[in-house]
Amino acid sequence: MIIKKQPSLSDPITSLTGIGPRLQERLMHIGIDRIQDLLFHLPYRYIDRTRLISLGELKAGEDAYFQGEIELTQIRYGKRRSLLCRISDGTGAVILRFFYFSKSQQNKLQRGQLIRCYGKVRRGSSSLEIIHPEYRLLESGVDVELEKQLTAVYPSTEGLQQPRIRKLIEQALVILNSDKKNINELLPQEILLEQDLPTLADALEYVHRAPITADLQSLIDEKHPTQKRLIIEELLAHQLSLLKLRNELKKEKSPIFNKSQYLVSEFLKKLSFKLTNAQKNAFKIIASDLNANSAMLRLLQGDVGSGKTVIAALATLQVIEQNYQVAIMVPTELLAEQHYKNFSVWFEPLNIETVLLTGKLKKSIRNLIEEKLKNKKSIVVIGTHALFQESIIFSKLGLVIIDEQHRFGVHQRLALIEKGKQYDEYPHQLIMTATPIPRTLTMTAYADLDHSIIDELPPGRIPVNTSVHSNQRRNEIIDRIKNVCDEGRQVYWVCTLIDESESLQCETVVATSEHLKQKLKKINTGMIHGRMKANEKEAIMKDFKEGKINLLVATTVIEVGVDVPNASLMIIDNAERLGLSQLHQLRGRIGRGNEKSHCILIYQSPLSNLAKERLEIMRTTNDGFVIAEKDLELRGPGEVLGTRQAGIPDFRIANLKRDSYLLSKIQRIATQLIERNPKNVELLIKRWLGKKHEYSNV
Ligand code: ADP
Ligand code: MG
Repeated sequence: MIIKKQPSLSDPITSLTGIGPRLQERLMHIGIDRIQDLLFHLPYRYIDRTRLISLGELKAGEDAYFQGEIELTQIRYGKRRSLLCRISDGTGAVILRFFYFSKSQQNKLQRGQLIRCYGKVRRGSSSLEIIHPEYRLLESGVDVELEKQLTAVYPSTEGLQQPRIRKLIEQALVILNSDKKNINELLPQEILLEQDLPTLADALEYVHRAPITADLQSLIDEKHPTQKRLIIEELLAHQLSLLKLRNELKKEKSPIFNKSQYLVSEFLKKLSFKLTNAQKNAFKIIASDLNANSAMLRLLQGDVGSGKTVIAALATLQVIEQNYQVAIMVPTELLAEQHYKNFSVWFEPLNIETVLLTGKLKKSIRNLIEEKLKNKKSIVVIGTHALFQESIIFSKLGLVIIDEQHRFGVHQRLALIEKGKQYDEYPHQLIMTATPIPRTLTMTAYADLDHSIIDELPPGRIPVNTSVHSNQRRNEIIDRIKNVCDEGRQVYWVCTLIDESESLQCETVVATSEHLKQKLKKINTGMIHGRMKANEKEAIMKDFKEGKINLLVATTVIEVGVDVPNASLMIIDNAERLGLSQLHQLRGRIGRGNEKSHCILIYQSPLSNLAKERLEIMRTTNDGFVIAEKDLELRGPGEVLGTRQAGIPDFRIANLKRDSYLLSKIQRIATQLIERNPKNVELLIKRWLGKKHEYSNV
């Protein structure tokens, strides 16, 4: 007889019994590859099936596990056909309601049948009811056991039922328990003691098989010590991966750029304004970062309009002076074009060549620029993510500046750095963001960077006044546009859409601008949206900047970077659709001159309470940091840093909003671990970030 050896936790999932290709594929889909991954597939909620509740005790809004006898089953024909099934147990009654049911299901739910159910109780039209409960039919006289522990509910995917996942995890737990050493404890004893944390093996066992005696509420809130142990480990892994990245880059060489001898002072002489103290300080640090032989890794934060562009220009000059190249990457073509124009005006008198590289360039022009980047030493290139493309080769890249970082993820950032690597030298990095990032997020998403803040606006700025109006007051608002234009000032009208498709956005902009043109016959109206060609956009922006267009109807493409100081009124239509940080960015397009500016947020009523609260925040504060904190509080990290990627990791169990109180502790533990247990660092990263981490190394 062959004794089958028990698989180990690091074996592929297929070494468990009963896993065919279809199931394997589904498991892969939710990130389960090896047996150990099952252990880290953590419940997102728990239900209590350890005891039954009597029907007299049911309360609307609560989950209930109960059994009783079917009194009546009937089909009800109303607005929607449904199968109703009345259950009672002598203490009370409840209705089960099914909108989808089969003939055989209907037949089985016979009067007199004993049934056990689980589901959420709600108030129905005449009595308490449960829609589509989980249920099983019981044979009378046979006692069906209750669960002995809390039932964990797992994240799943189509075609993968809870009982199936539970059984697989149970198998993994058996392997784990056969020898607790099967899983590597990566937190040293001293940290466990210091933080009063259970071991990993105990924590995993507990969260999967939470006993009846467990404090259900703390498990549901994910505040249980065993969960805390896992949360800490996960946050730690993320923190370590960023720190490791930082340490690795810091070990590499980077070109040393001496403090500028002439370009910076020439530039400042010609500049039409004086730097603020905050700007001076920011550049001072950057200048000395560049003067070191390890890469600058700096995040420069400053509210909209605080004057980050000029800092980018100064850093660029220090590098150009030593005949290296500088690449400035921005998230939109419009911003690339605008920066290109600014930098050209600034740099031409200094004999520095600036080029623009976006995805929409003609092939011939593009080839020309590629040629220059390959051959010419000192040159400034401003572009979108087109800068990553394979055909782009830098001959001597000394500095990468990323403006409006919130739109790029950590991978994109690294890809550009890799591209710039030359003779084992890495370019310096300056990351600039106008979305003030709450401290909790900088500590996680940007743990690899040093931080500077420009906490001062150029002098003479008058804060924007913001008001919130319902759509019904549209006509009054349109009248206001006229007044503003009559005074020689300019206006933005921003159209927002939930649907991100460019064609729909463009339709809305066209329709709105037609409507406004009709109402405001004497006013020069222009429009701008993502569907337009680069040169069309450029022409419109030029006309707007020169005052030839008074009213600019736009999509949120103007969100970043656009700078027209004479614009003093902005109307944001359907403002409730946008995140607070995005609204703040948009609003930052006005209030750039020395005249009072107004921002009008129009909403479509009725507004939810949350939406009201959010618009109220916009009305009452102009402070980007306050707004970002509130945004984080109300909507969570993904939204604050922009909707899609933006460097915010997908956590298995941690939640930045809920767990932010742990972050300073995590930082300390991370440093301690790197010093004392460097071997575990790699293992922890691998355990929690797995493939994602490998990806970041490409
Ligand atoms: P942001 O930080 O949002 O990128 P910008 O760099 O676009 O801000 O600067 C906003 C506006 O303020 C620009 O018109 C810029 O020329 C101007 N500006 C920047 N610094 C100063 C300053 N120290 N004094 C006066 N105006 C300034
Ligand atoms: Mg900017």
